[in-house]
Amino acid sequence: MKQHPRSRRVDRRVWLQSSSLTVAAATAKLTRASEVTTQDDPPIPDPVIWDGHCHLHGMPGATPQEKMASFLKVADRFGIERVVCFMGWPFDADPTPDALRRQNEQVAAAIASAPQRALGYVYVNPRHVDASLEEIERWMRRGPMVGIKLWVAVRCHDRRLDPLVDRVTRLGGVIFQHTWIKTNGNLPGESTPQDLVALAKRHPTAKFICGHTGGNWELGIRAVRPQPNIFVDLAGSEPTAGMTEMAVRELGASRVLFGSDASGRSFASQLAKVYDARISTDDRRAILARNLRRLLAPALRSRS
Ligand SMILES: [Zn+2]
Repeated sequence: MKQHPRSRRVDRRVWLQSSSLTVAAATAKLTRASEVTTQDDPPIPDPVIWDGHCHLHGMPGATPQEKMASFLKVADRFGIERVVCFMGWPFDADPTPDALRRQNEQVAAAIASAPQRALGYVYVNPRHVDASLEEIERWMRRGPMVGIKLWVAVRCHDRRLDPLVDRVTRLGGVIFQHTWIKTNGNLPGESTPQDLVALAKRHPTAKFICGHTGGNWELGIRAVRPQPNIFVDLAGSEPTAGMTEMAVRELGASRVLFGSDASGRSFASQLAKVYDARISTDDRRAILARNLRRLLAPALRSRS
């Protein structure tokens, strides 16, 4: 069978080498603040990059401020202008109300040390609705949080999410939901993109981000395609050729968002998904920053 040069059947080692070279070249040019060159497109002058999926967990530093400084030091090498951070440390899959407060305080303190560079989502747990609503009020009224993050405590089609989604939406924020379709079975509280579709159907005016595009992204993209208030987050899986192209083809570039999942993943591996994708220059720019900026604009306006 004839193979497309960018198909996933291409030799993995060869592809990774070419991909990392492309990113390395792009990065070198970014640090000189000149322009990025990809294989197929004309030069992109200084793309703005907003990373919509960041964790300070795992970064060097004893304090939130030190962790943020470590994070931005690496982000600077890649020309990343803004980072959206969520969840503190250590990671807590089913946080108590006290743990939620502690983790959001960690992230808020880190953001306060770099207010021009960092934004955040409030970590919430639908097992503790009242405590989660308090956290949303506390951190979204005047910032610095611009949405909520839900992880693996409760599958997201659960009705307990409804008051949280309503409150965030009234404040102009977004709902970021981790999703994965695991071949060996999800965790009991781990959501699939299909679960997110069920939630998004109940809240047609809310804006949802499908974390990791479902992990198994070919299924994830298909699942969310008919639900226009779901955007996909490219973060946190192997830098596989074809992922970004399929998302753009099936959803339109305006529903696709760059995110890295650093420090769990490297900026280089995740940027490679966008830099190496066969998409237009304008779509690349939209995915790297413009879409997220537009999505977060109501929350940024409402807190000022
Ligand atoms: Zn993550």
